[in-house]
Amino acid sequence: MKSDDRLVSKIKKLATMLSEDPGYCVLTGAGCSTASGLPAYRNVNGLWQHDKPMDHQEFVGSEIKRKIYWSRSQRGWPNFHKARPNQTHEMLTALQRSGHLGQIITQNVDRLHQAAGSKAVIELHGRLDQVICLNCTNTVSRQEFQQRLESLNSSNYGSECVIRPDGDVDICADLLSDFSIPRCECCDGDLKPDVVFFGGVLNPRTAAHALSAVNHAPGLLVVGSSLMVYSGFALVKRAIELGKPVVIINKGTTRADDLHTLKIDHESGQVLADVGSALSIPELRNYKASLK
Ligand SMILES: [Zn+2]
Repeated sequence: MKSDDRLVSKIKKLATMLSEDPGYCVLTGAGCSTASGLPAYRNVNGLWQHDKPMDHQEFVGSEIKRKIYWSRSQRGWPNFHKARPNQTHEMLTALQRSGHLGQIITQNVDRLHQAAGSKAVIELHGRLDQVICLNCTNTVSRQEFQQRLESLNSSNYGSECVIRPDGDVDICADLLSDFSIPRCECCDGDLKPDVVFFGGVLNPRTAAHALSAVNHAPGLLVVGSSLMVYSGFALVKRAIELGKPVVIINKGTTRADDLHTLKIDHESGQVLADVGSALSIPELRNYKASLK
């Protein structure tokens, strides 16, 4: 069988699975947002593409680390904030509206599923558009916080910067000595983006909600994740323990490559558009399927 034929047959198989057992739970990762200009942490081999991202204990325990984070974030936020949903987000929304997909669980912090109109989104790792006080847990919008950052640190701008998936950018450390971090306006505590950093703990209610979504779904569809982060892999393990099918759409290696029911190693937006086309979803009439 030629590789195109194999791809077509896998897409048809996924369409059949969603048609016979609608309401699959979806788990999404950074690979969903690369086409929106937000790069994935890991390459197709599952290895880090940049330095390892911010660690929770380092952030909480070190003012210098917080300055490094916020000075990079000040520069990276405007581009991150401008990112818009791509075909993958739009197709997931369409398949959710048609009832073929149910709950969406995302490891992303970019809110692009909601921007595309998806409902029932569980954000495993939080949301980058909010900042939370480590002391009193008051939250403020990241956009509002950006204005405070900019007014305190108007010279913190260089020419080129490279965005990371959490809105971070690479920066020279020599700007840090004069850098000021705005403090909580309620209690003067330290502020943190409302996301789970590496080494941080998931909100227990969010984790339980995600497990419950997998428990109640007929199967799990993983889109754009290498599953190297345990919080996502744990959901795949749960689905497998319960005997539910696991389908993975991801370019490159994943941690569940020995465990899945079906794997489609291809660009997710196109695969989902083709699945939608095979399912004759009305919203997809305007999308031209690449595969016949
Ligand atoms: Zn506070």
